[in-house]
Amino acid sequence: MDFNLSEQQIALRDSAQRLARDVFKDKAAHWDRAAEVPWENIKLLGEQGYLGLIIPEEYGGGGANLMDLVLVLEQLGWACVSSTMYVFSSNVHGNRITQLGTDQHRQTYLPRIASGEILPCHAMSEPQAGSDAHRMKTSAVRDGDYYVVNGNKCWISRGAVSHLVLVDVVFKDEEKSPKGLLIIEHGTPGFEIGRIEDMMGHRGSPSTELIFRDCRVPATNRMAHGDFSASLMSMSLSRCCNSAIALGVAQRAYDEAVEYVQRREAFGKHLADFQGLRWMVADMAVKLDAARMLIYRAASNATAGFPSELEAAIAKTYANEASLSVVSDAMQLFGANGYSAAYPMERLYRDVRGFVIAGGTTQIQRNLIARKVLGRRKY
Ligand SMILES: Cc1cc2nc3c(=O)[nH]c(=O)nc-3n(C[C@H](O)[C@H](O)[C@H](O)COP(=O)(O)OP(=O)(O)OC[C@H]3O[C@@H](n4cnc5c(N)ncnc54)[C@H](O)[C@@H]3O)c2cc1C
Repeated sequence: MDFNLSEQQIALRDSAQRLARDVFKDKAAHWDRAAEVPWENIKLLGEQGYLGLIIPEEYGGGGANLMDLVLVLEQLGWACVSSTMYVFSSNVHGNRITQLGTDQHRQTYLPRIASGEILPCHAMSEPQAGSDAHRMKTSAVRDGDYYVVNGNKCWISRGAVSHLVLVDVVFKDEEKSPKGLLIIEHGTPGFEIGRIEDMMGHRGSPSTELIFRDCRVPATNRMAHGDFSASLMSMSLSRCCNSAIALGVAQRAYDEAVEYVQRREAFGKHLADFQGLRWMVADMAVKLDAARMLIYRAASNATAGFPSELEAAIAKTYANEASLSVVSDAMQLFGANGYSAAYPMERLYRDVRGFVIAGGTTQIQRNLIARKVLGRRKY
């Protein structure tokens, strides 16, 4: 494990930081309030190579590794979660296609994802199957050269604006009804967008219900290695990336709070002079550092495919909860100003909260960690 960044990584991190602070920061509150997709930022992210950062160079991507991606997500998340979520999905789902798709999938989709021409999303959750993904019902039944798909997915981030969806389905007519991934393109007859959720945060990256009614999907759209265990394992990549964005949000809240307590006065001194508040800031610094180390460990140990499930689950559990706690404390340090939309703190709080649930809750991460440590228990 070596956390010394290469010159290339420092340059990448610094250019993402400039983009975040000089271009994304000021309009972040607008995308959030209006629940508007930040198209102008997505275009820029495509042009500057961020959407295909870890897509292999032979498919038009940057050929970077997970550590590079984590550095970028942390910087962009500092300024604007709504915009950063598109870098998350193009890279994470692009990587799913690289690792689990066929040659044809890679050639058809990856160059267009890398350039930002098309956006991908991933649909696993269903109304009765969230944490317990094995209860999913969306079915795919073979009919000649097609699968006929029926079912409802929910909470799908960017579902209404993505051009293709990696959908977890049950192959109903096969022995043991295996689950696996199918690529379904928007515009396929029988595929409709349902309710667009009015979410607390991540509002420029809207979550949506997806409805499939006798939707005929070419059989070649089945992911080659997309059996359910591979699909679940690929979640370790999204967990690392989810944690990196949450960390960026927490770092922003901390930076704002450190500045605020040194200028705000009460009882004849600066807030930064009260011992209790000094320790609060110290604890925030400890949490940020520890979270960063765990995320960097999982990212830098990742092999060509995905990070270790255990390291990603440990990173997500700690980093999500530490980030939430840091933002909550930063809001407290701001007093009523922290609760007002005139300051960024309330948006940061709403945004960071979502990461603790999305991509597998921290309770489910603890189950995964305990299973690795103690093995499966029979009751
Ligand atoms: C911002 C956001 C974006 C999302 N984006 C997507 C997306 O793009 N694609 C997608 O497929 N889904 C997405 N989701 C859905 C997300 O994956 C689920 O919300 C999550 O897996 C939890 O499922 P659930 O909401 O049904 O909660 P439930 O599974 O009903 O859980 C409710 C509570 O019970 C706890 N719990 C459940 N089972 C156990 C257990 N065995 N042990 C201990 N505690 C348990 C949970 O931790 C949680 O606190 C998103 C959610 C959010 C908030």
